[in-house]
Amino acid sequence: MIQPPHYTGAPLDRADHLREDAARFLSGPDVRILPFWQGRHALDAAGAPVWRRTPLGEAAVFLGLAGDTAWFMEDLSHLPAVDGEDRDLGPGTAAEVPAAARWIDLRGFGNTQPRDVAGVLAYGRGLMFWHQNHRFCGRCGAPTEVRKGGHQRQCTNADCAAPHFPRTDPAVIMLVSDGDRVLLGRQAWWPPGALSTLAGFVEPGETLEEAVAREVQEEAGVVVRDVVYRGSQPWPFPSSLMLGFWATAETTDIHIDRQELETACWVHRDELAGFGEWGDGTDRPKLPRADSISRWLIETWRTR
Ligand SMILES: [Zn+2]
Repeated sequence: MIQPPHYTGAPLDRADHLREDAARFLSGPDVRILPFWQGRHALDAAGAPVWRRTPLGEAAVFLGLAGDTAWFMEDLSHLPAVDGEDRDLGPGTAAEVPAAARWIDLRGFGNTQPRDVAGVLAYGRGLMFWHQNHRFCGRCGAPTEVRKGGHQRQCTNADCAAPHFPRTDPAVIMLVSDGDRVLLGRQAWWPPGALSTLAGFVEPGETLEEAVAREVQEEAGVVVRDVVYRGSQPWPFPSSLMLGFWATAETTDIHIDRQELETACWVHRDELAGFGEWGDGTDRPKLPRADSISRWLIETWRTR
């Protein structure tokens, strides 16, 4: 039985109706605040996320409730690094987190976390990036301020007063098959041998199915049909929602766009069993990272 994609299944009641007044939880007995600093989360010596009971500022974002416990995430990125040379140490004692904590980008440790914990971290991370990039109104340029427990920002210019809501960018990712072969490609900056299904952002004015067909044609010169939705995954690196599809190849000759891909190839399902893992330090062909929906699309196809 293959689990749903990683970073899904955050076990929180998002409690939209409590967001307006969520700050009251911060002074209550049952609160957990996940610190976030310059794109990184804090981990204890055992590799589990560190949380605090008291906020350090006024901008903790309400994530939701787990039973009676209110979960928040707080951006501490304004604090200086405790050691300018080693960002893994983060703001350290300045943020009053345990001295054993390391500060690591979720991209570097997400696959070491249980799926539900990874889901909470991904949820908060996506909100943190949204706040960092929406401090000013996109309509009039005035500063914005936080509302609804961190789930809205409001333009402070009374003549504009535009509300802004957290957003996520839809991207399609597709396993294209030709019988027992799948189409995989790689970008030049990936580790040697790393391969993935193709992917790309959805553009204004097109359906998801059209985006799938366009991206495969653009990147690999392959025409597809029978585009079928399979599942989705939050991918807050920094703000995507990955929408996963299977598609069937109508043509099989590959003509790659070198601006997008270094290479693309057809891989037989039996070859996949001999592939290595992302980060295994070898040059041999590798499956996509274990926490990616690309990997999930391949595993569900391979074991169908
Ligand atoms: Zn405005």
